[in-house]
Amino acid sequence: MASHPPVVQRFLRYVAIDTQASEESESYPSSAKQLDLSRLLVDELHALGVVDAELDEHGYVMGTVEANVEGPIPVIGFIAHVDTAPDVSGKDVKPQLHVNYAGGPIALDAERSLTTTQSPELEQNKGNTIITTDGSTLLGADDKAGIAEIMTFVQRLRDDPSIKHGKLRIAFTVDEEVGQGTKHFDVKKFGAKFAYTVDGESPGEIENETFCAESATAVFQGVNVHPGYAKDKMFNALKGAAAFVAALPQKEAPETTEGRQGYIHPVALTGGVEETTLKMILRDFEEAPLAVFRAKLEAIATEVRESWPGLKVELSFEQSYRNMRFVLDDYPTVVENALEAVRRAGITPKLNQIRGGTDGAMLSFKGLPTPNIFAGGHLFHSRYEWIAIEAMEQAVETLVQLAQVWAEPAE
Ligand SMILES: [Zn+2]
Repeated sequence: MASHPPVVQRFLRYVAIDTQASEESESYPSSAKQLDLSRLLVDELHALGVVDAELDEHGYVMGTVEANVEGPIPVIGFIAHVDTAPDVSGKDVKPQLHVNYAGGPIALDAERSLTTTQSPELEQNKGNTIITTDGSTLLGADDKAGIAEIMTFVQRLRDDPSIKHGKLRIAFTVDEEVGQGTKHFDVKKFGAKFAYTVDGESPGEIENETFCAESATAVFQGVNVHPGYAKDKMFNALKGAAAFVAALPQKEAPETTEGRQGYIHPVALTGGVEETTLKMILRDFEEAPLAVFRAKLEAIATEVRESWPGLKVELSFEQSYRNMRFVLDDYPTVVENALEAVRRAGITPKLNQIRGGTDGAMLSFKGLPTPNIFAGGHLFHSRYEWIAIEAMEQAVETLVQLAQVWAEPAE
């Protein structure tokens, strides 16, 4: 283990700690075991000279790296999350190191192989050291790679005073995977002007866009009577709901769209003859298409009311989050500096959009503009999750460059 670079040693230490978040839990964080890693990180930050590092009552770790250069440099934050996805177990993770990867499939266990069809990015990693699971758990590179990279970045700054940087703030959050990562995040207390989550995928990728997200609920109200005496009296809510689902546009579904295309997605149908509730989510990168989606759903509701007289159909909408680009566009330097840092790390930068939300989107709308930087992992939330050691080192280098870019006087 001692022969591995520091970022890898850290990564292997962190993935050994089970931090799986729970969808069912009512507590915060959703699982107490997440804090096992948070506490370790506080200790390690102290050892790295981050003397004010502490764990707050909500489970967030925050700490400060003081500036080593004078000047009006904005405080920059770096954020990663300790929890792993509820989808697959993160207990007893046994990372497998594949040194000098030769290409082709990697056998995880007797049944499972990681293939280049699943993950074409493997092709660019010949000669690299790939870390996979043993097929029984997820790996936890999402987001323990991001944590290991930020910690190693802090170590690099401590060890090399020639790296000039302003004041930096570090945060490790909980419950990102259950959509609660910023619930109690105190932007004011964090005190950064801008921040970056280190939670993306391929080397070089900077993500500045998320979906605009809404949910829609259709409630179908019927009339239930004994089926033996139901003629002209019964109105079956289930039938109205089924007609509604059947009328949803199949060309605008998650399974038929990609890139910048949006969708309407039915996610849950519950109820019976008397009352049935249909839950849907609406996604697009812009607001105008969401209005079109809402109008489509209204039209379907009208159709169902006409085809199933006697049924009441009520449709309601709720906004979830918005594309963080709407905020980031007002602060172009934040993304530009990240792209410049990637270039200086010797990688080709790529601007990307996330077909989902991020903690960064939430923070951006809370007043802390926060794009997402690559952490290097792939096939998140699955037993096939993998990361290359070289990608982790590139991420550390990008963070080091980024701190320096921010410390340079503006032209
Ligand atoms: Zn993540």
